[in-house]
Amino acid sequence: MAKIQTPQPVRGTQDIFGEDQERFQHVVETFERVRRLYGFKGVQMPVFEPTAVFARSLGETTDVVSKEMYSFEDRGGDSLTLRPEFTAGISRAFLTNGWQQHAPMKLSAHGPLFRYERPQKGRYRQFHQLDAEIIGAGEAAADVELLCFADQLLNELGISDGVTLQLNTLGDAESRDAWRDALVEHFQAHKADLSQDSQDRLERNPLRILDSKERQDRPIADSAPEIDAYLSEEAKEFFAQVTEGLDACGVAWTRNSRLVRGLDYYRHTAFEFVTDRLGAQGTVLAGGRYDGLIESLGGPATPAVGWAAGIERLGMLLDEAAASFTDIAVIPLGADFELEAISITSQLRSAGKSVQLSYKGNFKKRLQKANQVKARLAVLVGMEECYEDEVVLKNMESGGQIHVKKSTLLNDVSDEKILAMTGRS
Ligand code: ATP
Ligand code: MG
Repeated sequence: MAKIQTPQPVRGTQDIFGEDQERFQHVVETFERVRRLYGFKGVQMPVFEPTAVFARSLGETTDVVSKEMYSFEDRGGDSLTLRPEFTAGISRAFLTNGWQQHAPMKLSAHGPLFRYERPQKGRYRQFHQLDAEIIGAGEAAADVELLCFADQLLNELGISDGVTLQLNTLGDAESRDAWRDALVEHFQAHKADLSQDSQDRLERNPLRILDSKERQDRPIADSAPEIDAYLSEEAKEFFAQVTEGLDACGVAWTRNSRLVRGLDYYRHTAFEFVTDRLGAQGTVLAGGRYDGLIESLGGPATPAVGWAAGIERLGMLLDEAAASFTDIAVIPLGADFELEAISITSQLRSAGKSVQLSYKGNFKKRLQKANQVKARLAVLVGMEECYEDEVVLKNMESGGQIHVKKSTLLNDVSDEKILAMTGRS
């Protein structure tokens, strides 16, 4: 018989397990805690949307829409796309659910996204993001609140050292158009030296050349005109309000006057939190104001601002994953005591203790297992020297043990005085 070939994982996907999973989980839990401090409501979004949701809001000329989307026809003949980002789907939901009545709305989400990219460290085809959006607020105070949220998140993850907030403004539509013309002129003059990709961008989306990762484009992009000369008075005033707000909250930032975001819909504030600790994949959190997006989905003019952060990239920056401990291992001494061990395990878990009960092996094996799962205590059920109404409580660190009554076990496993008797430091 032919050997059955085991199917391989899809390129650019990861099975996140062990220490990586601990890091991932820690990032998500910290985000969930901090977003509550800022009054953001969680939202669960579909993983796929009609292709038009992304094509319209991101724009056909963006890399994401033109090269990176996982789009397919479903059995009913509709064109669907696995979400490459959260913002467009959340904006669609804002319109189709009539959430306008709740504006301004502060929403947060996290989960998987899909982009057909060249996989490398920190860049995957299925990756995961944290996402925060404020929809229906045109005030600079919304930009400031979102940036403070991002800054506090990075602080609480303990990774703000070596991560810089780079800030720019793309101005209002008028400023942006004037700047765009100046950029086109500059890039036209150097067209022959640009990469093929950037020559194409010159026609479709010249701002994107500033964002190019091609080496040969960098000197031309870095010498391009800055936006400042083209900013309208209103745009300048808006940006000043944002920076004053950041200073008032103690959020450190640096100006990067050539920073643009890859997507078409950005206006005014644009920002990235960047580190040099992740090689080429140095942007951990990025976003900005996207006042034009909801209109491009057929909705009323609605100002909005948001950011997204790569969970994997944040996880890689964490110093050490929070080690996972087990409170208690329950070990029956022989088959006669297994049922009782099951019952004790169930009671301890109901009381909120994390408990591991090993399924098989002799006493020594089970004790080894208890060490492996980093149990702090073991409950030994059925020790010969015990009375019938007793079990042995063993401190896994010191090895010290005492007999305790089964009837008081629930209290004893948390009682510092009792634990001290086992030689716990
Ligand atoms: P890049 O310039 O790195 O391609 P981007 O501008 O496409 O990033 P956004 O769409 O702004 O990225 O996504 C926000 C964040 O999501 C990024 O800063 C990054 O942390 C993360 N991210 C984006 N694409 C990927 C990916 N393919 N794999 C892992 N993380 C990603
Ligand atoms: Mg990208």
